Amino acid sequence: MIETLIIYTVLVCPKGHPKETWTEELKCTGDETPFDIILEYNRTLRPHERPRALIKIISETQPMIEHVCRKTNNITIQKGGRLFDTYQCIHCNITAKRFGLPRQWGRDAKFRHPKFQYCKPK
Ligand SMILES: [Zn+2]
Repeated sequence: MIETLIIYTVLVCPKGHPKETWTEELKCTGDETPFDIILEYNRTLRPHERPRALIKIISETQPMIEHVCRKTNNITIQKGGRLFDTYQCIHCNITAKRFGLPRQWGRDAKFRHPKFQYCKPK
């Protein structure tokens, strides 16, 4: 199980100085939110650091992760004159078939949509 990672771009300022804003990227895993990261930062300030306030979340993106497919059939399947093996991603469960070269598998019809191109671990 890969931990889900979300990268947030946020607008922050030093606490009490709402005009001194800047943007930064915060990486959150699991159930963390950017607010948790800022709270944690404020709790563990080093001497020269000022507490921060999060003004708003500008965007959130999930990094692109490749599927990790494992073969799911024991014996190569023969159908319509073609030989293939079936695969399933160990993280998000999409299914695929491989007809030729190693790792050159194609996603099954119901996962053909581009939104399934990269892995979204469950
Ligand atoms: Zn996957």
